[in-house]
Amino acid sequence: MQWEPVIGLEIHVQLATVSKIFSGASTKYGTAPNTQACAIDLGLPGVLPVVNARAIEMAILFGLAINARIASSSVFARKNYFYPDLPKGYQISQYEHPIVADGYLDLPRADGSLKRISIRRAHLEEDAGKSVHDLFPGATGVDLNRAGTPLLEVVSEPDLATALEAVQYMRAIHTLVRFIGICDGNMQEGSFRCDANVSVRPVGSEALGTRAEIKNLNSFRFIERAINYEIERQTELLENGRNVVQETRLYDPDRDETRSMRNKEDAHDYRYFPDPDLLPIRINTDEINAARARLPELPASRRIRYVSEFGLSEEDADSLSGERTVCEYFEALAQACGDPTQAANWVVGELFAAVRREGIDFSAVRVGPAALAQLLLRIRGRTISNTTAKLLFKVMWNGWDGTVDELIAGSDLQQVSDTDEISKLIAAVIADSPQQVAQYRAGKEKIFGYFVGQVMRRSGGKADPQQLNVLLKSALSVRDN
Ligand code: ADP
Ligand code: MG
Repeated sequence: MQWEPVIGLEIHVQLATVSKIFSGASTKYGTAPNTQACAIDLGLPGVLPVVNARAIEMAILFGLAINARIASSSVFARKNYFYPDLPKGYQISQYEHPIVADGYLDLPRADGSLKRISIRRAHLEEDAGKSVHDLFPGATGVDLNRAGTPLLEVVSEPDLATALEAVQYMRAIHTLVRFIGICDGNMQEGSFRCDANVSVRPVGSEALGTRAEIKNLNSFRFIERAINYEIERQTELLENGRNVVQETRLYDPDRDETRSMRNKEDAHDYRYFPDPDLLPIRINTDEINAARARLPELPASRRIRYVSEFGLSEEDADSLSGERTVCEYFEALAQACGDPTQAANWVVGELFAAVRREGIDFSAVRVGPAALAQLLLRIRGRTISNTTAKLLFKVMWNGWDGTVDELIAGSDLQQVSDTDEISKLIAAVIADSPQQVAQYRAGKEKIFGYFVGQVMRRSGGKADPQQLNVLLKSALSVRDN
């Protein structure tokens, strides 16, 4: 029998609000334990939660970005369970009435077609605290700074067919939430993580197999490896005539395996009920329209447009469209210099290299699109060569504060495109290289590069390469007889 995997992801997106979802405490990461948990986050008797309006706006923005329905009324519910890092004894989440439902995301396939992944729902909830097991011998510490941090849980349909596809989907959501500015996407700090539900079924079968849920995956590499391990484990069980048990598992990256954590609980185990301390969230069309007006053009649409409108390669379009600062820079540069291909080459080449070299964020690039456009215009006008431009770019990057033309004038790097001057250099090289000339004229065309190199050297690297090529070809083809 042939088996096929079925995967659905529950992605936890930590919303980039300044304060928590139901209290005014800060959401800042990495402060001393228990300095950012107020009475509301601790669930002390008598306190009342108040919803953070920014968290709601962010959920609406996300819903629009995945073409989902925004509920005109959604309800917070208590999900009851006991754990030391959950002092209230319940987590405030949404159950029957989530804020966002029925969306989708299209993933580009290698052949250019799209695979649609349906997104069942996205609901708001608060994060729990953290149990710290490795700090005190024989005891567990509890840090409640994270308690009450706003999360948007994004639940896909089981539409993903391979571990790679799951990673592609996860990456697309990661790109999207950063692009629309609702999450910092920092996976090490846990701002973006997922639970992967995995099952296996006979190929051709409609019914879903029994699934295992792998908790808390916070790196793309671990997601891929954990899912692949799980697919193999389940397939082997089924091939040996045994059953998959529905359970929650943990991935151990050191051993590259998943381990059983607990039996999977069902929804009814949590005794969900509407939280009596919170009113339903009401959202009217004006608010939805206002959010829609704030939604930027999304990465998927830009990627397609960069290919169709600007003629970029799929690869360049992909690397230019994922980050908002990058695409805004690229589009400004393309507009100012008038040549999108040249603009793309410079952003993907020189700018990305500089950003990588310095380990900085793209938003911190030190040469703006207007200044860079001036430089690119001088290449196209043949005032300077591409090689010279790269040198000058470094000067600009290191803090040049004059204009590009002042820089070119002051640096004696103007390209020599004076025909007479280049012709003189060519004549001299030809006179000095009788052997190479004879070889070239005898048909050894590979040696052409030798002449280019010689003339370039004598010009101090400043000969206009295009002119040099033309003049050199004609000079070499002229015979003395
Ligand atoms: P729960 O209530 O346990 O969270 P849901 O039915 O809400 O379960 O589904 C949670 C996630 O698991 C969804 O992303 C869904 O697509 C996925 N899922 C559900 N059943 C299966 C299955 N048999 N195989 C793989 N994924 C599944
Ligand atoms: Mg779930």
